[in-house]
Amino acid sequence: MSRRAVVIGGSVAGMLAAAALFRSMDEVIVLERDELPDRPAPRKRLPQARHAHILLPSGRDAIRELLPVANVHGRLLASGAHEQSMTDMLGFGPQGWYRRWPTVTDDLTVTCCTRDLFDWTLREAVLGTTPVVVRRAEALGLLGTDARVTGVRVLAEGLEEDLRADLVVDASGRGSRVEHWLEGLGVTDVPTDEVDSGLVCASRIFQVPRGAEDFPLTQIEADPTASRPGRSGTLVPIEGGRWLVTLAGTRGAEPTTHPDAFTDFAFRLRHPLIGQLVSAAEPLGEVSVSHSTRNRRRDFEKAAMPEGLVVLGDAVAVFNPVHGQGMSVAALGALALSRQLRQTDVTAPGFARAVQRAAARSVSAAYAISTSQDQWFPEVVGRAPTLVDRVLSHYMGRLARVATTSYSVSAARSKVATLQAEPSRLLNTELLVAALKGPVMEPLAGPPLTFEESAFVDSMGPLAV
Ligand SMILES: Cc1cc2nc3c(=O)[nH]c(=O)nc-3n(C[C@H](O)[C@H](O)[C@H](O)COP(=O)(O)OP(=O)(O)OC[C@H]3O[C@@H](n4cnc5c(N)ncnc54)[C@H](O)[C@@H]3O)c2cc1C
Repeated sequence: MSRRAVVIGGSVAGMLAAAALFRSMDEVIVLERDELPDRPAPRKRLPQARHAHILLPSGRDAIRELLPVANVHGRLLASGAHEQSMTDMLGFGPQGWYRRWPTVTDDLTVTCCTRDLFDWTLREAVLGTTPVVVRRAEALGLLGTDARVTGVRVLAEGLEEDLRADLVVDASGRGSRVEHWLEGLGVTDVPTDEVDSGLVCASRIFQVPRGAEDFPLTQIEADPTASRPGRSGTLVPIEGGRWLVTLAGTRGAEPTTHPDAFTDFAFRLRHPLIGQLVSAAEPLGEVSVSHSTRNRRRDFEKAAMPEGLVVLGDAVAVFNPVHGQGMSVAALGALALSRQLRQTDVTAPGFARAVQRAAARSVSAAYAISTSQDQWFPEVVGRAPTLVDRVLSHYMGRLARVATTSYSVSAARSKVATLQAEPSRLLNTELLVAALKGPVMEPLAGPPLTFEESAFVDSMGPLAV
């Protein structure tokens, strides 16, 4: 009998899982209940696409390995996506402005574009270079037993049918019903953790004003240790000479959809630079708001999971989006699937568990980064910080202060933040000594603008700090 994989969900995790599978299977079917547009355009079941989406270098490299011929990154750049060196962006952290180091290293470069462009490009690349097929259908449940999943119950064109599969990948996002489906098979022991700072994101697209065409990615971070609600903002250059600006506030400081309140909120961040830039730019649409921001992970790798089922992407874990990790974690999960396929047959005992365990590595790293900050905001829901958390937070604060003045410390932190190095790397001797010694230069008094950026900002009048 021919070997078939069924992937539930046709977004990032689903398309990349299909890319991982097509060489090992006779047939790969992606089930997607949404209508997928034939150009970069919004779609109903992807509301988060209205907000800033940054692709980390770890995600970019995973996609490169999964689709070596399709050149997804090149396609994105050809369509107007921006590449931004993380050491040459404008960043204001809790410890001050980061200095800029205009060395462009590929491993510290993020890709910036709309989510609509990213999804369409990825979809075109997968469907144009592999035999993977997408079927418009909704998965209703899993077939099989608590020992092995053997397929998916689907609803297509008003009719229910059973679709047999040697492997099922659930990539149906944060709303995944897989836990409920597993319960139906008798699997009930999936450990879950949640940390919810009540964050709300508000986003709006702007035309880049004349004179600001080269303004870089700009980020004003919240200060989790300030004992007040966090406010942050990110201005992302995207295709079509536009900025996508996402503002975020934790419980007690939530932004709204009101257009005037958007600019006010931007001015009330810990530094007014984004407010000033936004007030000089022409808005190109309404303000969109998202409440889908809590951190939640489900440790499928620790549960008595049936063979024949792998869960990837947001269906496993979701993170505070300000860290920009979700798509890269989805890509790294698909890469774990691809690497396991090179070692073991998809029907071999323990295959699914091995994939789930390998995929959990990037989930754990992203979750640790995100929750270690969120747990300090007022009225957070979830586990309280422990003594170890307090000591680590103090150390990370010191390290962040050094990072504002040191390329090597800043780069080491970025490697961890971009999921290219384990968080434990930040505890190595060199960095411990650097944290003890403190900053190697005077902290900056204001944003490290280039001559052109200064000229643009000055043309708008004095920058109130
Ligand atoms: C405000 C915000 C900002 C973000 N910013 C970033 C960022 O900067 N960088 C980053 O990397 N990540 C970011 N993320 C996270 C990112 O959006 C997700 O991590 C990513 O979309 C996960 O991809 P996925 O394929 O797992 O799930 P999704 O993209 O949610 O896709 C799930 C798919 O499954 C389909 N589906 C669901 N149920 C079924 C079913 N039963 N049958 C058939 N199909 C089904 C849905 O229609 C959908 O197409 C952000 C998230 C939010 C909310």
